[in-house]
Amino acid sequence: MTKVTLILGDGIGPEIAEATRRCIDATGAKIEWEPREAGVDVMKRLGTPIPDETMESVKRNGCALKAPITTPVGTGFRSINVYLRQELNLYACLRPCKSYKGVRSKYQDIDLVIVRENTEDLYAGIEYEKGKDETLELIGWLNAHSKRKIGPDAGISIKPISVEGTRRIVRYAFEYARKMKRRKVTSVHKANIMKFTDGLWLEVSREVAKGYPDIEFEDRIVDNMCMQLVQKPELYDVLVLPNLYGDILSDLCAGLVGGLGVAPGANIGDKGAIFEATHGSAPKYAGQNKVNPVALILSGALMLQHMGMNAEAKRLEKAVADVIAEGKDVTYDLKADRNDPTAVGTREMADAIIRKLGR
Ligand code: NAD
Repeated sequence: MTKVTLILGDGIGPEIAEATRRCIDATGAKIEWEPREAGVDVMKRLGTPIPDETMESVKRNGCALKAPITTPVGTGFRSINVYLRQELNLYACLRPCKSYKGVRSKYQDIDLVIVRENTEDLYAGIEYEKGKDETLELIGWLNAHSKRKIGPDAGISIKPISVEGTRRIVRYAFEYARKMKRRKVTSVHKANIMKFTDGLWLEVSREVAKGYPDIEFEDRIVDNMCMQLVQKPELYDVLVLPNLYGDILSDLCAGLVGGLGVAPGANIGDKGAIFEATHGSAPKYAGQNKVNPVALILSGALMLQHMGMNAEAKRLEKAVADVIAEGKDVTYDLKADRNDPTAVGTREMADAIIRKLGR
């Protein structure tokens, strides 16, 4: 048995976590779950959104399946999602975007994988608030060292992109492409404008690509990439991007395949991995047995794949695809009319997937 931490989350989290656990168990995967709490509900009881025992369990097991967690606006705690990624150094964010027959979308046959750098760039959290002493000091230094002047009323966010950070994520993208028998990696950047950050990213991408002659390599400027993705997404395969562009293009690509309800994700580092849906905790639907569990179930399939349980992962994905294609036992968001009274609940959709798995 392999131990996996199951972070129940809040909002719709506990319902989809339970549905996902049942589906994964039905594949026959030998997993011993350690259910642990995180989020606003446990915050109210224990005064912390992420109790020590949750963190210890994730660190010990090196693998977690995580339901969504609310990030309250305007309160003391920062995003737990960001905290977990930083604490465990989960530097690669993997977001496969694949069309499933039966999911309504303007596009068919999309099969893209986004590999997003997760630790650097404008999301590194190095920010200086307008008017603060240290901000004015920094502005003073910058004005003394560059031709362009910054006014005292500016806030500043720093964009670090390092050789080592870039090398490991581009390598990860190529290793993933090789393992999954993908044909091409496209490195995305804005090197024409930001020469010392995105320029470095491109240079390192090219250097890493030389070590993988079996996989095609190309680069795209991010704005052009957005246009190409909506015009001819079939030309692309694995995309590797710095943090900010990766965040934005993940949602663009989720849109190509029919939205958040079917968009899985993984955050992976050298010492651990956390698998989670792209969507959030949708608090307005909490406790209603209403929302679509597929994004977290497909994240579970990514987890099985990551653990080397490839047969179980494939069977789980096929069971999900079959239930969606039949269109009968699916949640409201997968029906042509969102008010369709034949839509089933979260639990019942999981039951249908489990039946496909022969359990
Ligand atoms: P959200 O993804 O929670 O919900 C937006 C809308 O998308 C919902 O109102 C619903 O209509 C739809 N939706 C989302 N998931 C669905 C599902 N499984 N099935 C059917 N419909 C679904 O986004 P939000 O409202 O911007 O965020 C709510 C909270 O979640 C915020 O606090 C945010 O910070 C947090 N969040 C957490 C994560 C995470 O834990 N990884 C990710 C994104 C957002």
